[in-house]
Amino acid sequence: MILPSRLPPVSPATKFLLVSLLRVGALAAFVGGVATLAGGVGYGVLAGALIVFAAFGYYAWKLAQLSDWLREPTAATLPDADGLWGDVLIQLYRMLRDERLSRQSLADTLSRFQQAASALPDGAVMLDNAYNIVWLNPTAETHWDISRRDDRMQTITYLIRYPEFIEYLNARQYGVPLTMKLTRADVGGAPKELVFTVQLVPFGDEQMLLLSRDITEYERLETIRRDFVANVSHELRTPITVLSGFLETMTTAATAGTGSPVLLEKALAHMSAQAARMQRLVEDLLTLSRLEDESHRLAEAPINVPELVHALAAEAEQLSNGRHTISVGAAPIWLIGNRDEITSAFSNLITNAVRYTPPGGKIDVTWELEDGAPLFRVADSGEGIAPEHIPRLTERFYRVDRGRSQATGGTGLGLAIVKHVLMRHGGRLEIKSSRAVNEHGTQFTARFPIARACASEPRPQAVAA
Ligand code: ADP
Repeated sequence: MILPSRLPPVSPATKFLLVSLLRVGALAAFVGGVATLAGGVGYGVLAGALIVFAAFGYYAWKLAQLSDWLREPTAATLPDADGLWGDVLIQLYRMLRDERLSRQSLADTLSRFQQAASALPDGAVMLDNAYNIVWLNPTAETHWDISRRDDRMQTITYLIRYPEFIEYLNARQYGVPLTMKLTRADVGGAPKELVFTVQLVPFGDEQMLLLSRDITEYERLETIRRDFVANVSHELRTPITVLSGFLETMTTAATAGTGSPVLLEKALAHMSAQAARMQRLVEDLLTLSRLEDESHRLAEAPINVPELVHALAAEAEQLSNGRHTISVGAAPIWLIGNRDEITSAFSNLITNAVRYTPPGGKIDVTWELEDGAPLFRVADSGEGIAPEHIPRLTERFYRVDRGRSQATGGTGLGLAIVKHVLMRHGGRLEIKSSRAVNEHGTQFTARFPIARACASEPRPQAVAA
């Protein structure tokens, strides 16, 4: 007979069964044999049966221990066992431990993913192929005004009903973002317009990620930038047109030999006025851009404001040329700030009063403390400004009376400069105006923080003897 060179491998369970049966069988046969020799066959059978019964009881007890342990399978509570039972328990324990570890690592990965997705500045909504909401992050909650707790597994198109959004989802144009405007009630209840870009990204088994980004602020800045470029171009167009018109006329006259010195003089006067206008505009634009540059730090020193105010009032007298009555009241208080910037702000307010107050009007310039805080005020008896214009006066290029502004050399940037200077000094601008028949006029008040006032130039510290 040919024996197979190798026996087939035996599974641990078969090995356990065979070894247990052999042990119990051998013990029962041995004890039964001894009992038969001592007392006869009856005793032998009884002793063998008792051994089998005891073995059965032992395994039942071990199974009860195992079942108890499985309720809370830790290394500390592992029942004492050796031999085959020990092997079984150790294997079972390792299996359970590995499974627990891999479950834990899966849960950790999932929780890290959720934390990362929750921290995203963009909104993310996970959708199934029927557009039901599977998951969403807190940003998406605020973007779409939907709840992570209540709206899970709701169809997104029932919650976000904007037609362009539904059209975009149905088109499934992955990779092409949609820009949409939403109207939301603000905290105070007033509606505010928000602008979002939305993008659908497919993934996995017909699932989709709906990403949203709030670009309201970006759009606002973009509108300001566009308006600014349009305004500057518009401001420059007139002087450039005038200049090129005169240049053309002069060239034609020179070629034809028809130019007269009087005409030439007139043309040159117009041209230099337009060049001066462009120069003022460029200077104001540069001042404004310096003021808006956050990195441009304020170089501060005590300023002798009474002296400055009197000097500015003297310049205003020249500009007025006797057409207005200008009075100055300046308390002996100094201000800690940047001299150039303060000069530019105060000068803008005083010259505006001269430019916009009809002849015969009164202009009062005041520098004083009010409740300890310094203030600079220019009050005129001009026609006054209608209330709807007042909140917009400090916007760049905003003018109430464009004709008068341009006729008096205005760039439309003066009050924007004033506002920025005051902001850099921790101050604010207040505008009050009346168009009433008997008490018309406008008051511009620049208020500074108490800490910016000082009695006079601080003396150098006396050196101790
Ligand atoms: P501008 O260079 O046009 O004067 P500003 O920014 O200094 O620009 O002023 C903005 C607008 O505010 C002016 O065009 C003018 O209509 C109005 N304004 C400013 N100061 C006065 C004032 N004292 N009285 C009446 N209107 C004023």
